[in-house]
Amino acid sequence: MKPILLYNGHFISFTKNTTAVNAVLLHNGLIADVFSNKEQWPQHIKKIDLRRNFVMPGFIDSHTHLVSRGIELQRIDLEKCTSLNECLEKLREAEHGDRDIVFGSNWDESRWIHGDVSTLNKTILDKISTKKPIIMRRVCGHYAVVNTQALNSIPQDWKIVDRMNGYLYGDIALNLSEIFKPSDEMVEKAIALASAEALAHGITSIHEVTVPSQFRILQNCKEQHTLKLRIAVYIPHKYFDTIVSPDVPIGSGNDFLGIRGMKIYLDGSIGAKTAATNEPYQHTNKRGNFLLAMNIVSALVERAEEHGIQLMIHAIGDRTIHEALRVLEKNMSNRNVLRHRLEHIEMVDDASVEKIAKMNVIASMQPNFVRQWQMPGGLYEHYLGQRYKRMNCFKKLLNAGVKVIFGSDCMPLGPLYGIQGAINHPFSCGRLTPFEAFRFYTAGGAYATFDEEKKGTIECGKFADLIVLDKNPLTENNLDNINILEVFINGSQVYGNVG
Ligand SMILES: [Zn+2]
Repeated sequence: MKPILLYNGHFISFTKNTTAVNAVLLHNGLIADVFSNKEQWPQHIKKIDLRRNFVMPGFIDSHTHLVSRGIELQRIDLEKCTSLNECLEKLREAEHGDRDIVFGSNWDESRWIHGDVSTLNKTILDKISTKKPIIMRRVCGHYAVVNTQALNSIPQDWKIVDRMNGYLYGDIALNLSEIFKPSDEMVEKAIALASAEALAHGITSIHEVTVPSQFRILQNCKEQHTLKLRIAVYIPHKYFDTIVSPDVPIGSGNDFLGIRGMKIYLDGSIGAKTAATNEPYQHTNKRGNFLLAMNIVSALVERAEEHGIQLMIHAIGDRTIHEALRVLEKNMSNRNVLRHRLEHIEMVDDASVEKIAKMNVIASMQPNFVRQWQMPGGLYEHYLGQRYKRMNCFKKLLNAGVKVIFGSDCMPLGPLYGIQGAINHPFSCGRLTPFEAFRFYTAGGAYATFDEEKKGTIECGKFADLIVLDKNPLTENNLDNINILEVFINGSQVYGNVG
């Protein structure tokens, strides 16, 4: 690949000690040099004029379900619906088409002006069709409501199914793609659609949760050079045997695609009232449940340690976080050399904050959730009462010395959306400076996959994964106004056409 000089831009390197940079040289996929002085620029090579726009390292989204997102893009999106009726109307329309399965995703009752979630059940969906399976999965993924025809496809011995009402919880709701399997073509299209969406948001690397069959399709895409982003894959723990088999060794692949670790789900979500909390949800006696018994989790941690596998552990409620830390403490290496991470850790008490810092566990968090549900009067206040003020305490974790990393969880995909939530956090325990928030979405994610020497900042020797923005991300008040103009990955321009 021929060298390229990017010049006439404002370079924000996101290193701790920022030095003025006025041009960077990209060569062989790397940032081959950085310049602070025009006289040092190499001559007679291709140059791209950045027209005074802003350049920063590409975003690393540390928690995605990109393949699922791409499948959803081919399904019925209920995210913007403002009433239950509107959701049902969309499903009805889709039922008239030629789909075999009517799968609606991302409904969020906190957006509904009319209609109550308690009236959503099997009977209401049976009115749309008794012949085609109909599925309505909540935005969190941890809860779905289905009609009788869909229920018939779910094995009788599967637990956490309320067959009377057609409610599916936890694992089943999350893994509906295993029952209603998308075709390989649909998965391939999903990868292309969602990758294009990710690039448009300036994402150059993701940490993706996906199953082995979809990992193989990702591998095919890589071989056919249709994979544009760097993807570190985390496989759900039920595929442990696959992960440790010699065919798919851990860390396999290269800097574009490889299996990085294993995902364990310990609880659900606040929105579905299934995250396990110490105190009940408001006006109920529900405290959520653990999705796995702690002795099983303990055995999984032990086995992961033995095989050198990094864990990504989903833990949202304070009760879950507490238990997760207890189990990790018992089984993991001193100082957490495998860099096990807790995902979401939304409701974390002071004792756990201290423990996370002491144990050196990574806090993988989603600032998107603040913006979506933690604003005063929002869903979290409604479901949790005053406890909502202590949720997503990024700043407190940072001050305690915890390594925090940011991801979107595809709710929605888009780092700038989430960062706005972190810098406008309604409570000081969570509010970050723009510099801190952007670091969590760049250098933070690099650390989590042992890539801190390879990406996350603009420095000589790092991957040439850069994005160009039309406004200064550190001073712009409303990040929604920022446009991503160009994206470079491995030194190649993969999005935009300025220059
Ligand atoms: Zn997730």
